[in-house]
Amino acid sequence: MNNYSPYFDGHNDVLLKLLFSKEKNKTKEFFNGNDYCHIDFPKIKKSKFVGGFFAIFVPEKVPDESLFSKMASKSYSYDLPSPLKYDHSIATTISMIDILKNIIKNSNNEIILFTNKNDIINFDHENQIGIILHIEGAEAISENFDSLEILYELGLRSIGLVWSRSNIYGNGVPFKFPSSPDIGSGLTLKGKELVKESNNLKILIDLSHLNEKGFWDVAKISNSPLIATHSNCHEICNHSRNLTNDQFKAINDSGGFVGLNFATAFLREDGQMIDTDLDILIRHLDHMIKHLGENNVGIGSDFDGAKVPSKIKDLTGMNNLKNEMIKFNYSEELIDKIFYKNWLNFLKENF
Ligand SMILES: [Zn+2]
Repeated sequence: MNNYSPYFDGHNDVLLKLLFSKEKNKTKEFFNGNDYCHIDFPKIKKSKFVGGFFAIFVPEKVPDESLFSKMASKSYSYDLPSPLKYDHSIATTISMIDILKNIIKNSNNEIILFTNKNDIINFDHENQIGIILHIEGAEAISENFDSLEILYELGLRSIGLVWSRSNIYGNGVPFKFPSSPDIGSGLTLKGKELVKESNNLKILIDLSHLNEKGFWDVAKISNSPLIATHSNCHEICNHSRNLTNDQFKAINDSGGFVGLNFATAFLREDGQMIDTDLDILIRHLDHMIKHLGENNVGIGSDFDGAKVPSKIKDLTGMNNLKNEMIKFNYSEELIDKIFYKNWLNFLKENF
């Protein structure tokens, strides 16, 4: 079967790949495509990708895949990098926003930024690609929130308070297997303020990477539904990055949303970052649907930020996931919901 379903994605790191690519002209590279990014324009056109959360993640050094190889072992606990400095974080963040803005500017209005509810209501997924600007770790937000307002003006609409390392707002989970997500203390006072300020500005809060105490803090303080853009099920894969059934219950009670992560270490029962078949993705989806119903589950691939199953490989492999879902008796209607309709409907309500 060769007809792709439209696909809206809860998380990707293509801006990070472009930032560190050898090619100077990032816009040209994105539109021409290449063989090492999971997402680029030719792949978008081929696979009917309709948009998603584009993450800004600030690394402490030039990223490599050493974390993936450490996570390929049977049990592991990866030491988190030390906290980032604000100056480095804001500078890198601005560079990555610049890459995205140039891509948008050169897209002939085909690629747009979602900045308010109407952008989503009026979105034409057959002819447009809609992007939500997301930061993964709030290190670029200054303590007095000055830069928050500026980033908001530039289009920021989604914040992960922490990536897995700690910052002045809270603590993320280390990459640990086997492990509960209950590691470390909850949000700091500043972190709690940032949640309220994000609520005021209508910026989404993403719970993926946050430790469990931080999760419960957000659940208590935030006045918007709980979202984990790229997290899987702890009951199936006992990884610190995955959500327990209690967390799923809280997300469901809040009317929240979860996106399935393709990183193999968060999928496989043995937690190893090695290749995996696609049936395990269906088990996670079944579990999510059991807890959240059919309307509040989507995909947050982690494309360009993780090792994904070779049968998916990149955007152009989304059809193989679709075929796997058909094999497991997912209806065409449910596939469309999980691929794009649920995310877009949820965002229409909560943006
Ligand atoms: Zn992530």
